[in-house]
Amino acid sequence: MRTGNGNDMHELSMAEAVNNTIKDLCARSGWLRARRVVLKVGRMRQVDHELLAFAFEIVARGTPSEGAELSVLELPTVFRCHSCGRETTTEGMAFVCMNCGSTNVELLSGMELTIESMEVDQQGA
Ligand SMILES: [Zn+2]
Repeated sequence: MRTGNGNDMHELSMAEAVNNTIKDLCARSGWLRARRVVLKVGRMRQVDHELLAFAFEIVARGTPSEGAELSVLELPTVFRCHSCGRETTTEGMAFVCMNCGSTNVELLSGMELTIESMEVDQQGA
């Protein structure tokens, strides 16, 4: 269930960004096409995996990633406290140190959106 802040195209713009990255990688490396793509996505991105896979299928049409299988590795939200130095992993969106209660924290993980790995068809290989 989404919070409904009029952000319904969130996954679509992410899928476009990912697809553009794959297109560039393929063009630069001379790869024919992507077969399988594994994405690393931080929890704070609040990505709906099914929606993302669906959006990716649409934007991939006519590009080297057409028909590629997309999977998503979700990374937890982790922050470090500046007051006591402890790291906290959270499921939610509250940035309060579990150890000392400070809100003087720095985000370490949770906003990722990167390609973890890809299987590709290499030209002339
Ligand atoms: Zn602390």
